[in-house]
Amino acid sequence: MKYKSLNQFASVLIFTFVLSTFFNTHSVQAQTSGFNPQAHDPLSVPEMIKMSLRSSVHHHQALLNAPIYRINAELDLDLKIYRGQLLLEYTNIERDTLKQLNFLLYPNSKELSSKSERRLLITQAKVNGQPIKYDRLASEVLVLPLPNELQPGQKAQIELSFKGSLFALEPQMKITEFKLEDLLQTLVHQHQPKGGYGVFSFGEQIASMALWYPILVAYDDQGWDVTPSEHIGDRSYFDVAHFDVTLSTASDALVATTGIEIENRRRGMLREARYIASGVREFSIQASKDYTMESAQYGDITVKSYVTRRYQENNRPALEEAISAIKSFEEFFGPYPYKELEIAESPLIGGAGGVEFPGLITIASMIYDSAQGLGQLRQNSKQTQAKSSRYGHHQGSSHANTQSIAQDFMQESRDFVIAHEVAHQWWNAVVGSDSRRHPFVDEALANYSAAAHFARTRGPAATQRQIDMMMRLNYHLARLTGMKDQAVDQSTSAFAGLLDYGAIVYGKGALFFWHLRQVLGEFALHNALAQYYQKHTFRVATGKDLREALIINPQRRVEIENITKRWLDETHGDDDIEAVSLYRTMKIMMGDMALAQLDPELRRWLNHRGVDALADLVEYALRTGKLDKENIDYEALTALLGDLMAEDPEVARWARVASRVLMNPNAEPSDLLKEAGRELKREDPKTALILESAGLLLDALMMEDPKPRAKPAQPQPKLQRSPQRSPQQTP
Ligand SMILES: [Zn+2]
Repeated sequence: MKYKSLNQFASVLIFTFVLSTFFNTHSVQAQTSGFNPQAHDPLSVPEMIKMSLRSSVHHHQALLNAPIYRINAELDLDLKIYRGQLLLEYTNIERDTLKQLNFLLYPNSKELSSKSERRLLITQAKVNGQPIKYDRLASEVLVLPLPNELQPGQKAQIELSFKGSLFALEPQMKITEFKLEDLLQTLVHQHQPKGGYGVFSFGEQIASMALWYPILVAYDDQGWDVTPSEHIGDRSYFDVAHFDVTLSTASDALVATTGIEIENRRRGMLREARYIASGVREFSIQASKDYTMESAQYGDITVKSYVTRRYQENNRPALEEAISAIKSFEEFFGPYPYKELEIAESPLIGGAGGVEFPGLITIASMIYDSAQGLGQLRQNSKQTQAKSSRYGHHQGSSHANTQSIAQDFMQESRDFVIAHEVAHQWWNAVVGSDSRRHPFVDEALANYSAAAHFARTRGPAATQRQIDMMMRLNYHLARLTGMKDQAVDQSTSAFAGLLDYGAIVYGKGALFFWHLRQVLGEFALHNALAQYYQKHTFRVATGKDLREALIINPQRRVEIENITKRWLDETHGDDDIEAVSLYRTMKIMMGDMALAQLDPELRRWLNHRGVDALADLVEYALRTGKLDKENIDYEALTALLGDLMAEDPEVARWARVASRVLMNPNAEPSDLLKEAGRELKREDPKTALILESAGLLLDALMMEDPKPRAKPAQPQPKLQRSPQRSPQQTP
């Protein structure tokens, strides 16, 4: 403990020192360069709208009195710190008289800051030119008292100076290293990983900056929404605003942002660029000296892709997928309103495959890594190939084939993640929603939309693969770890962890829309969603609004309401969500060739209905807490073993393996997998490793058991990044 606090003390000292050095060395330059949001001629709202929005929305009512954020900021990519000034022009568009304004200071949230270390400091505050007293050490929410009450329709001008420091991802948190334990903690428990999802961090040479400045929290029927952040899902939601942001940073860095760039000039060692964004809920930045960029035009929309050098072969495919997705969603739901969309690699952690911002989507480095490289896998399989003698047909070509199937699958998954994030432009950026109280409104719809886009562009097989992997498997995996089916329409806080949240909101929730598509027809469903999109453009929709929009025809109200209730409020997941066959899943990931190399017995075993029964048993054991001798349903077990042996004599061997384990009163469910691995060790080390790893995974999943658990005797096999993780679980 002492060591820990000493460490903390030292880091605060270093932090203070670094911060003061930066501000000292830069203060002269800052003064002479007129570090001031009013340095430019201020643009009027109609000018900003014309510059950044497509004509279809130029005259939208919601844009009229939206707040205007004019920000001038300077970012130091080497020290990972920044500072800026915000000039906010605010009109009270609420029905209430306001005595105060509430700003979210996300960098000061629990996951990023401590009491002794605030990542976003407000150094000065003025309202209508008058200095205002405020809490200088404000944590997540800054309450700014107004000197005079603000009546509906009245305006106020707020000036805030701020400085911030990005959360530096530690080397051991390098996302390209598979950290099983961290990931499981995040997935299964209400565990708030340090650094959140990495949306306000520096890692992989990228500055990832979401919510880096003070931003007004949303105002709803209950007043200012200052609910503290949850352990999963999006931090918050915001009302639409206009942004005029000038950012200075190293001249050799590339910068991806919300909005469009209208000016760009060199200023000493820095490059100063000015960005305009109208009709957006926030303004995000991704900057890196290592970025490469490609851009393309789709009608009057400019699409740009940014990835770091080592992943640069992803730039073109990401660009093409994003354009193809825009095309699908415009066809299904209505026009994309912004003139630009940027896709940027980001150092996301905590199980997020991508995170959406208005006009900017971020994709985790690990998604690009697995889509491009599979480097580790490639190397390992070469070794296996060299060692293995059991299968005569281990030729280079079949391995290359397996690899290319695996890689194709990873690329397909990358594209699904991109499509999911692009869909968020419709369901999150344009149609806002309370993503904490009703996360299904944007997440389930974004996942469904990605599948609908796949159906349009890639045909039924690829669509089925993604529905299996990104929706059904989520659900069944969570059920295997003991989760009970739950209602979809619940707040993020109702879910125990990311695994359950992903299973219900991204899995079952998206399957609800897929089911509705089968009942109503694609055209009718998309027509309903297009009307919903138009009605709520630049506004905030509730769960009720979305449900109401799905009633395509008053005569079918009862029928549709019953389906909605069944899927969103009730628990029929086990009946409604078709099981995913283990064999089919492996086939998806490894291809026919790889499966042909599997032990024929194991192949039969995987394909056998006994596997489902075995899964039921594991699930039963997990649900009842642990595999306690008295709790084992021996009747079911005997029936299962009898089944396995009677139906197919060739699986008798595996039944023997199972009974060997189950006869041991101290056996854990995972011992089944480990024993199966041991059985195969000499014949097929690769499959043995997979089984043993799965056993360890199951052990780790059950770690919440407070009783100390015997550690497996054998050294932990190095797990490869498994394509089975659910990369689409995005906040
Ligand atoms: Zn999402």
